[in-house]
Amino acid sequence: MTEELFRDDATLRDCSATVLALSEGGVILDRTVFYPLGGGQAGDAGELLLADDRRVAITEARKSKEHPGAVLHVLAPDADLSLLTPGLAVTAQIDWDRRHRHMRFHTTTHLLCALVPHPVDGCSITAGYARLDFHMLEPLDKETLTAGIARLVAEAHPVRHRWISEAELDANPGLVRSMSVQPPRGLGRVRVLEIDGVDLQPCGGTHVANTAEIGAVVVTKIEKKSAMTRRVVLGFAA
Ligand SMILES: [Zn+2]
Repeated sequence: MTEELFRDDATLRDCSATVLALSEGGVILDRTVFYPLGGGQAGDAGELLLADDRRVAITEARKSKEHPGAVLHVLAPDADLSLLTPGLAVTAQIDWDRRHRHMRFHTTTHLLCALVPHPVDGCSITAGYARLDFHMLEPLDKETLTAGIARLVAEAHPVRHRWISEAELDANPGLVRSMSVQPPRGLGRVRVLEIDGVDLQPCGGTHVANTAEIGAVVVTKIEKKSAMTRRVVLGFAA
């Protein structure tokens, strides 16, 4: 089990941690700031800093298959595994430029959910582009969506997450109805992401703290992937 510090504070760039195990070509730590691939969002890359100033590159973070609940920090194929032994103290440091791009795009996908009130059936967020697939028949307009995003960014809406218990969900059917994506059940509590007055939905990803922090994100392409799927592709304005 890895303590996932990024769930409660997406702005953390590094943390001290202890190596628990080597597994599946990577390292498992007791705690981490690395977001593992999931929910459509790419996993973080970065470095582990050792006490003697040596650095070990991490190419990607993902969920461990061998150790459920643990985050696997994947090493480059040529990495020297002998540097890392269980019990070793390290500093885990993410590639912040890359992560901040993920956060800006990810938060924009929430704005799109507000602008396009149709179910989402696919999502991919990388540092270079993001795409969101909507289950819908009607065409979408690139310029209209880009203008909608720019308006919500300019309005500077605060972005917050909070944990809601299932008991609270059960007691508030209106809250559940107002969510653009229905919350999963059976987990005891659900992490929900709220953009004031714009979007509310369960989400475990990393987001910026205010829509103003998104900056200039535009719709670069709209594709008709199938009769009932419209794909919206996002990019950073040049
Ligand atoms: Zn999200």
